[in-house]
Amino acid sequence: MIRLEGKLATHVGNVREVNQDRGLAKVNLFAVADGMGGHRGGEVAAALTISVLEGSAEELSPGDMSRLAQEANELVYERSEEDELLGMGTTLVAIGLHNNQSIEVINIGDSRCYWLRDGYLAQVTRDHSFVEDLLEHNEISAQEALNHPKRNIITRALGIGPEVEVDTFTLNVKAGDRFLMCSDGLTDEVSENEIVEILTSNEDLDTAAQQLVDRALVNGGKDNVTTLVVDVCDSDAPVKGAEVEEPAELNDTTDLEIRSTEVEEITTESKAIVAERAGLGAAIKQPKIRLLLGVCIFGAFSLLFLSLRSYSQNNWFLEEDSSGFVAVYRGRPGGFLWFEPSKKSVTSVEVDSLQPTALVQLEESDSFDSSESARNYAMSLETVEIESRAEQVESPTRTIISLESSS
Ligand code: MG
Repeated sequence: MIRLEGKLATHVGNVREVNQDRGLAKVNLFAVADGMGGHRGGEVAAALTISVLEGSAEELSPGDMSRLAQEANELVYERSEEDELLGMGTTLVAIGLHNNQSIEVINIGDSRCYWLRDGYLAQVTRDHSFVEDLLEHNEISAQEALNHPKRNIITRALGIGPEVEVDTFTLNVKAGDRFLMCSDGLTDEVSENEIVEILTSNEDLDTAAQQLVDRALVNGGKDNVTTLVVDVCDSDAPVKGAEVEEPAELNDTTDLEIRSTEVEEITTESKAIVAERAGLGAAIKQPKIRLLLGVCIFGAFSLLFLSLRSYSQNNWFLEEDSSGFVAVYRGRPGGFLWFEPSKKSVTSVEVDSLQPTALVQLEESDSFDSSESARNYAMSLETVEIESRAEQVESPTRTIISLESSS
C-alpha cells in the first residue's frame, strides 16, 4: 500500500506580469495547469480547471480523472465565450492515486510529468505541441526543438472546444519513486540533467520544488514557472513534511486579483537573492558548510601546532652560554621549525675549566628528557674535573642559578 506526498512551487518569472500557472496538491490528487489567453483568460482557465479537480472525491477510481478533465473542459469552454475571456484555455497534467495501489497520469498540452526511479528520469507524458509533432516526424532534431521559434505552440488544450482528448497513463509504482509535474516555464529553461541533479540531491519536497523554480529563474525565467514534486511513500511511513497547504479556490475575480497581487509582490523579489538560492545544488546551505569547514580546518591546524610545539619543547640539552658556563636549554638544538630553544638554567660549571675528557662528553652529550637529567649530567662533568683535580681542590662549588622554578 502506498500514499502520495507532494509540494508545489510557482513563480511569475522574470518577464511576465501575471502568473497564469496554477497547481493543486491534495492527498490523492496533484495537478499543474498552465493557462493561456489574453488579459486574464489564462489564469481564469487554469484556476477553473484546478477548482474542478480540487472538488473531487477523496477516493479516485480509474477513469475519474479523465471525467474530471472533461468536466473542467466544459466549464472553461462555457466561460470562454465571455468577451473578456474569449479564446482562453489551459494545459493540464495530473497524477491521481487509485486504491492506494496504482497511479494514473492524465495530460493535455505541453505541461509535463516526469518519473524518477533510482536516479533515472523518464518523461511520462508526450507534449501536444507543434514542435513535438515535428520531432516525431523526424523533421527537426532534439537540439533544434530546444530553440525552435514555434516551440510554444500547442496542438491540444483544455477549454478550446466542446470536448477534449485526454492522454491517460496507468503506472505501477513503488515507494521511493518520485514524480515531477511542471509547466513549460521549467522545461524551456532547465535541462533534464539539471532536473535530475536537483531532484536527486534534495530529499525535502519543498526544497526540491523551490530549487527547480529558482534554477528556471536564473536560467532566464521568460515564462511563468510551476513545479510540483510528488513522492510515493509507504502507507505507514511517517509524513515527511508539514501538512499540505492547498491553494485557495480561484473561482471569482476577487480571488484572482488577490492572487495577482501576491504574484506581483513575488516579482519584486531580488533576482540576486534568487540566483544565490538557486546556485549549484543547495547553495542556501553553503554558509553552514563553509562555517563547518572553517572550524574543521582551524581545529586541524591547532592540533598540528600543539603537536609540533610539544615535540620541540619536550627536550633538554646542554650548551655553553655567553658567560662561558654550561647552561640547560629547553628545545631542539638549533631550533625546530619556528620554535627556538630557550635557556632555562645556568650551572656553576665553567666550560674553560673542564678537562678535555669532560669537554668531549659535553659536546657529545645527547638530549635529555628532563631539565633535572640535564643538570645532573652537567654536574657529573664537574665531578670528572673535580676527581681529576682532587689533589688541588678540596670542595667544589655546586650552585645552579635557576632561571625558572622548574622545567
Ligand atoms: Mg507556460
